[in-house]
Amino acid sequence: SGGKPRSNRQVKLVLLGDQGVGKSSLALRFARGEFHEHHEATIGAAFLTQTVTVGQSNIKFDIWDTAGQERYHSLAPMYYRGAAAAVVVYDVNNTHSFSRALAWVKELRQQNASSVLIVLAGNKADLASDHRAVSVDEARAFAEDNGLIFAEVSAKTGMAVNEVFMTIAHKLVRRA
Ligand code: GDP
Repeated sequence: SGGKPRSNRQVKLVLLGDQGVGKSSLALRFARGEFHEHHEATIGAAFLTQTVTVGQSNIKFDIWDTAGQERYHSLAPMYYRGAAAAVVVYDVNNTHSFSRALAWVKELRQQNASSVLIVLAGNKADLASDHRAVSVDEARAFAEDNGLIFAEVSAKTGMAVNEVFMTIAHKLVRRA
């Protein structure tokens, strides 16, 4: 006789953040282990899935990407409605993208009364040694003050990308 039966869960995860910060690239890295230096914005990974296992639970992430529609801000609530987790992405080399990310966090907190799990992800960390514009301390302090998971990541090198999604999966399993 085996242990406990496996449970299967499907969760919606949305990627939010300014155009160009690397949302599609992070989705592609996590779902397929790929990176494309010059992919077209319109091709954006509009919908990808990836399943991870935590203990006896299979967590299937349905990953929603805004696919270049960041300009149409009014559409945003459609994207994050029903999401279990939101990854709010900024580019660690771009201060404007960081302030936009903070605005996304505030909007999520206001709109989504249910407890959506929010990750603040500083992408393009591979370029930070020469181009950093947002300090780790500043981002981490904001994350701590607002109850967010925080990580610097790189869709290009893959740094910390799987770890972020695994952290989300663990938290969702524990919360269930
Ligand atoms: P999105 O508009 O937020 O979906 O951003 P994309 O995923 O389309 O990425 C915008 C550009 O940044 C593309 O040319 C990517 O190849 C590049 N990019 C994305 N992530 C990284 C990263 O971690 N490091 C570097 N160096 N470039 C990246």
